[in-house]
Amino acid sequence: MVVEVCNFFGVYLLYCTNPRYHGRVYVGFTVNPERRINQHNGGKRRGGAWKTSGRGPWDMVLIIHGFPSDVAALRFEWAWQHPHSSRRLTHVTRRTSRERQFDFHLRVLAHMLQTAPWCRLPLTIRWLKQEYCRDFPAGLEPPLHMPVAFGQVRAVKTKGVKAPEVNVATPKRCSICLKKFQDGDNDIPLRCFHPGCTMAAHMTCLSRAFLAKEPLHFLPIEGQCPG
Ligand SMILES: [Zn+2]
Ligand SMILES: [Zn+2]
Repeated sequence: MVVEVCNFFGVYLLYCTNPRYHGRVYVGFTVNPERRINQHNGGKRRGGAWKTSGRGPWDMVLIIHGFPSDVAALRFEWAWQHPHSSRRLTHVTRRTSRERQFDFHLRVLAHMLQTAPWCRLPLTIRWLKQEYCRDFPAGLEPPLHMPVAFGQVRAVKTKGVKAPEVNVATPKRCSICLKKFQDGDNDIPLRCFHPGCTMAAHMTCLSRAFLAKEPLHFLPIEGQCPG
């Protein structure tokens, strides 16, 4: 199954399967992963980067997507390519001679996903090729709000907007401010996803509650259901 995503900005990891250059990796940015891998494997004449041209074939093994803009993704790409030049990643130690390039890049990625500002982005970590998939190093697991997904992804222009499901059992009052939900509310009430929990709240009320522990932030990334 191919998952379709609109507004796609991704940063990917290529792995070289050519025995002469075996073990080399390459980090790049794309708005269209399917087209991009063909370009890399078609060489410079098809728009591949000079570093990958003539050294293929390459496998696109992993892609991080969900960046809010191309600029955000390009900054991520740069830091992943140049961890020792990034002032945010001074804690990442250099690659040892025994560490494979692939393992090193995963280690850098794991650190990046735990480092601001990336740790707060709604990113998806997607393994495109099952055979390369592995766990993140112990203690360097990605934040809980970032799903680890498997399988192919396709960038699409626009997606049909589904009407929100009407749930007749939506509670009448916000569990936090206790005001009644009204038809004219800008805020669609958020409901707890736990079966049997009747908590519903204004998005802004819930956000304020979740940010109590992080007063310097504007957007919460996690929190416990007040119900
Ligand atoms: Zn409220
Ligand atoms: Zn709940």
